[in-house]
Amino acid sequence: PYDVLVVGGGPAGAAAAIYAARKGLRTGIVAERFGGQVMDTVAIENFISVKATEGPKLVAGLEEHVKDYNVDIIDQQRASSISRNDMIDIGLQSGATVSSKSVVLATGARWREMNVPGEKEYRGKGVAYCPHCDGPLFKGKKVAVIGGGNSGIEAAIDLAGIVEQVTVLEFDKTLRADEVLQSKARSMPNIQIIKQAQTTEVVGDGQKVTGLNYIDRATGEQQHIELAGIFVQIGLVPNSEWLDGDVDLTQRGEIIVNERGETSIPGVFAAGDVTTSPYKQIIIAMGSGATASLSAFDYLIRLAPE
Ligand code: FAD
Repeated sequence: PYDVLVVGGGPAGAAAAIYAARKGLRTGIVAERFGGQVMDTVAIENFISVKATEGPKLVAGLEEHVKDYNVDIIDQQRASSISRNDMIDIGLQSGATVSSKSVVLATGARWREMNVPGEKEYRGKGVAYCPHCDGPLFKGKKVAVIGGGNSGIEAAIDLAGIVEQVTVLEFDKTLRADEVLQSKARSMPNIQIIKQAQTTEVVGDGQKVTGLNYIDRATGEQQHIELAGIFVQIGLVPNSEWLDGDVDLTQRGEIIVNERGETSIPGVFAAGDVTTSPYKQIIIAMGSGATASLSAFDYLIRLAPE
């Protein structure tokens, strides 16, 4: 068995594994896809101390750093169950079980997509999901935010300080964002809010986004807006479905952790985008991975001697 088994090979999992290995603990990582969301990221300009990089380049660095230590990487394997007996057992979809004295869950999250034509094609070429990450790329341009919930209106307010004009498209008749955010958005002259708008297509010139089409659900008419960027803010879904019923999750499926990364199961820690940690960013995921791993170490040194 392992001392620390990390589930997830994104920034949180990689940091957790390195911190565990540096304590001389027997460490493994199970990952469906090493690198996680960072593999899908084009430009990264907010990973402090690295002025600018690209997702796959950062992932290569992560992998090289992990491989510098004695960590077993069990790649292309999906975890599907967790149970606690003497050990913590992680069941894999392949049918195998991996046992460990402690576990760090770092399975990340995925952005909910609109699933309309053009979205995939123009991902990273105008279609974006993270205003903290990609907002500055649209300085002085026109953008849309899809979704009028808290994350959509927060994104609109954030972007309005950088871009020329923000158009928020909300599917429903009403916005779901908190009233304070709505009134802040209404007070900003370069934010326009369109309700009952169903986005139907991302339009581009083959290289980048040039606009979007939507149906005005009140009239049934098709409309077109010209713009350079589309921020999709219709939800971030934690990859925690397989833990439901075993580990305490919020209603939205985030693993509930305290400031030490402890979950509801002793010996099971969690880090990164899959948790209740606010702000989903690479640097934050790495920090929380380090925290979870150090907490696992604290837990292990208190276990009764074998
Ligand atoms: P993830 O990166 O999501 O990694 C999760 C890992 O768990 C993966 O290895 C995955 O394969 C694995 N996994 C999931 N389920 C299972 C399972 N059941 N069994 C085994 N393994 C599993 N952040 C920034 O700071 N700057 C940016 O510029 C930036 N740009 C972004 C651009 C895009 C397009 C996206 C999508 C995100 C961006 N982010 C950016 C956010 C950043 O990528 C995430 O905050 C960060 O990757 C979270 O790290 P994580 O380790 O928690 O999860």
